[in-house]
Amino acid sequence: MADQVQLQADLLNDLVALRRDIHANPELGFCEQRTAGRIADELRALGIEVHEGIGTTGVVGVLKGRREGSRTLGLRADMDALPIQEMTNLPWASKTPGSFHGCGHDGHVAMLLGAARVLAADPDFAGTLHLIFQPAEEGLGGARVMIEEGLFDRFPCDRVYALHNWPGLPAGTISTRPGAIMGAADKFRITLTGKGGHAAIPQDSPDAILAAASLVQQLNTIVSRAVPPYASAVLSITQIHGGHAHNVIPAEVMVAGTVRTFDPAVQDRIEDRMRAMLEGIATSFEVECALDYDRYYPATINDAQAAADVLEVAATVGTAELAPEPAPTSEDFSFMLQQRPGAYIWLGQSTHEHTAPLHNPQYDFNDAVLENGVRLHVALARHWLK
Ligand SMILES: [Zn+2]
Ligand SMILES: [Zn+2]
Repeated sequence: MADQVQLQADLLNDLVALRRDIHANPELGFCEQRTAGRIADELRALGIEVHEGIGTTGVVGVLKGRREGSRTLGLRADMDALPIQEMTNLPWASKTPGSFHGCGHDGHVAMLLGAARVLAADPDFAGTLHLIFQPAEEGLGGARVMIEEGLFDRFPCDRVYALHNWPGLPAGTISTRPGAIMGAADKFRITLTGKGGHAAIPQDSPDAILAAASLVQQLNTIVSRAVPPYASAVLSITQIHGGHAHNVIPAEVMVAGTVRTFDPAVQDRIEDRMRAMLEGIATSFEVECALDYDRYYPATINDAQAAADVLEVAATVGTAELAPEPAPTSEDFSFMLQQRPGAYIWLGQSTHEHTAPLHNPQYDFNDAVLENGVRLHVALARHWLK
């Protein structure tokens, strides 16, 4: 079986060294010049056609199969680090203060380059594989920018997959699910504006603080009263700012927070209810209400057939597991899944030594799962481009 590829020790050693080099030299979103340069060099050395500068620092490698075929596949790895101070004291720890591969994107790059090496050495497939190295996953929407710059027009993909290491699963377990796998992330910022005035003369000044207090109460009823019990959502108010003196009714109060959902209909419902509540607050408290509601990452929705294919292929590589529920975190691969059918996949990485969660200063990517990741990428390519 071509997909039960045995990886040579020297390839794995090279990937560990590459992963640790990228780890020691992390770069934040849209600033991945060194990382992208290393990726482009590696791909060129394999004889793979390389396109750079897509979405600022994005890189796409184009690898054609030995056999004729019209199918196309995109495999995506994200490249960016996080603005976190690493606290691991590992020999390959970040050399850049305040910047750290705390989400394991260094490992994702290494796994996809490893797959490129295996497939370039033996392109026994039909059609075209696009190796997509994406910038700025962490909150900046690098996937959306690559798409806006013509990613799928220039590099057609009739299916796309992305892999993320997952500390919540044992090392080597591969998991995905049909439908929603990660949440949509929205943020909102509400400005309540009164007039400002003397605290002893309330009759002359609408009270933006009292309006904000009522608003916080009302917003916290949306999930319990306006979202069906079989659906799920989170609304958290995380900021409230206003006032500066004990004897002044402030002219303005700001209330901000986040909404997480798994279904666009629920997302619409929450924003609609929020707008209606603000109209009520404006009338009852005589304040002006301005809402800035930003849907920055949509829900990550897997295609059912793509997810089923992943679980079938994953069983030839490791332990395949249907994920029972989505995760409330979000992911900008969602933008790619809005354009093309595909699936987002979790690769377990936890052991006794590797217990820290993602985005934690102690997080340590488990190099032992590089092999699973490479083999899964290779198997997915050979399966779709068979
Ligand atoms: Zn992350
Ligand atoms: Zn990540």
